[in-house]
Amino acid sequence: MKLVLLGPPGAGKGTQAAVLCKEYNLLHMSTGDLLREAVKNNTAQGIQAKAYMDRGDLVPDEIVAAMITEKLKNEDVSAGFMLDGFPRTKKQAEILDQALIELAMPLDRVVYFATKEETILTRLTGRRICRSCGRIFHVTNIPSKKEGICDGCQGELYQRNDDKEETIKNRIKVYNSQTKELIDYYQAKNILQQVSGDMDVNELFSVLKDTFKKSGLI
Ligand code: ADP
Ligand code: ZN
Repeated sequence: MKLVLLGPPGAGKGTQAAVLCKEYNLLHMSTGDLLREAVKNNTAQGIQAKAYMDRGDLVPDEIVAAMITEKLKNEDVSAGFMLDGFPRTKKQAEILDQALIELAMPLDRVVYFATKEETILTRLTGRRICRSCGRIFHVTNIPSKKEGICDGCQGELYQRNDDKEETIKNRIKVYNSQTKELIDYYQAKNILQQVSGDMDVNELFSVLKDTFKKSGLI
């Protein structure tokens, strides 16, 4: 199964991606995670990307597209893959199309998480991430058993730099001006599936499993 998760920041893409990839053994590729890793390791790409990320702006297309095309070429994607947070511009979508044509691996589906703005704000301001394994928590919706500590690996939970209110507002603006048009782009290719990003994790997971089964994707 070859999927893209599309939607505003805070729609729950990362959380849903983690459960879906585990269930179906898909390779999870999140440009946000890859970029945060690059920043942490002070790579040339990370150093370039940091300022954009801190402002909530998009990192230049060439940087993120290179990260993804490299992974698609080098990693085992035989069971399928899931792209989460990529593509985010029409240019990125076109680069992806071209790379997938070369690999003869067309996308099966783009799942669009339609999400209310109030859900987005609550999710992003309360989001906490494990510094060691990247697992996503939320202070009230998905609390860890011990405050500030990851249930899985006992790592320290932190709030992302860009999950502060001012930056969140800019990320939503950027989504509306640069990413939203991808809904029409994929609709025109007849591979768009809209779901509600307002549902909780398990509810949405079972809706998705059901629709994947019904359409013969799994
Ligand atoms: P969210 O979906 O919550 O906004 P991500 O982790 O996907 O968070 O992205 C965090 C930041 O990383 C973005 O605000 C942007 O600066 C950068 N980024 C991630 N993916 C892309 C992409 N495909 N193109 C450009 N910038 C990206
Ligand atoms: Zn952890």
